[in-house]
Amino acid sequence: MHIELTEMLRCPETHEEAFLVMSTGEMVGRMVRSGILGCPVCRREYPIVKGVVDFSGGGRREAGVSSKASPPVSRLPSPVDAPTLQALLDLSGPGGYVVLVGSAARHAIGLAALMGGIHFVGIDAPSEVEELPVLSLLACETMIPLRRAMARAVVVGPERASPPWLGEALRVLLRGRRLVIEDEGARPPAGVKQLAVGQGLWVGERG
Ligand SMILES: [Zn+2]
Repeated sequence: MHIELTEMLRCPETHEEAFLVMSTGEMVGRMVRSGILGCPVCRREYPIVKGVVDFSGGGRREAGVSSKASPPVSRLPSPVDAPTLQALLDLSGPGGYVVLVGSAARHAIGLAALMGGIHFVGIDAPSEVEELPVLSLLACETMIPLRRAMARAVVVGPERASPPWLGEALRVLLRGRRLVIEDEGARPPAGVKQLAVGQGLWVGERG
């Protein structure tokens, strides 16, 4: 995980947002390979193992979003190519964060090649997706463990196109920014304006 992402994280428990406290172990450049994130509110601790922050162990809650009912992630490559996705995300200029939920994390390499200076955050990425200097990986079964309104764009993989995860996607998205769902039959939450549907994609903008 990129060390600067620390200030964008939140504890997955239901209490108010609060900055997590980082104790770094091994660092490689600006990436934290091992360490512990502590929550000052509920005192839970979340380990960083091989660069991946694991929010799943201590952060379970009954009312949370379950991914257990999700179908297995397809091994087939996504039909969406990076230039198409970049155009739909409507990103201009470097800086900030783009959040990729579930199998959408596979787009990080292609998008990073087209868009310099943006950091990508993968949530519950498939196991073959590896951390990169431009990609931080977070594991959490219950929510997107990021603060509200921090993302310049969010892409949701087809296996996460359910109302609870789409609600989470909208929570972390900045106003006026794009949400892309890799499921054209998705029913997005209130508060997002539909812009386009087709070719397996649903595209909207946060109002
Ligand atoms: Zn907490």
